[in-house]
Amino acid sequence: MRSRLNGPFVLPVRDIVRKPGEMREHVFPVTLAESWGEGIVAFDAGSTLDVDVRLESVHEGILVSGTADGEYSGVCGRCLIDIARPVEVEFQELFAYPGEEETDFEVQDDHVDLETLVRDAAVLALPFQPVCQPDCPGLDPKTGERLTESIGTEQAAPIDPRWSALQQITDQDGGAESRAAEKEES
Ligand SMILES: [Zn+2]
Repeated sequence: MRSRLNGPFVLPVRDIVRKPGEMREHVFPVTLAESWGEGIVAFDAGSTLDVDVRLESVHEGILVSGTADGEYSGVCGRCLIDIARPVEVEFQELFAYPGEEETDFEVQDDHVDLETLVRDAAVLALPFQPVCQPDCPGLDPKTGERLTESIGTEQAAPIDPRWSALQQITDQDGGAESRAAEKEES
């Protein structure tokens, strides 16, 4: 595996190579040149990842660990409304010194290239079934309209889990009335 040594995720490690115990930290923003992710949500091209990385020299190579803070965007998997959410991606990998065995991550010419590592972690952090809110009721199968809006603005707001028990009680109390009201409306 040969990677470019001039990418935005390439860091020099010359001053800590083969000095176990030495450590360096880097904090830097990266603007994505292309979008990351193939699903209905992705990290868009042009969006920024704030990378916070620690490079530790160990006997076998350079241990890389850190986080990348970004925002994915796309649509809700149920109601198709546009969504964007901040997410923190964690990653860790040992970049080995070049040796007899071929490894996926290697120290090359006194540099480490974190792009594949951060990209794989970021794509894995994307939700498989993204939703605009945990209880999104989706679309009306008959009209195709977004159900959150037809029920009313009160329901559209995300309900704090600590209030949901109370919400159930309220629903039971006023259940018969609101069901009747819904019938009249439709
Ligand atoms: Zn939704």
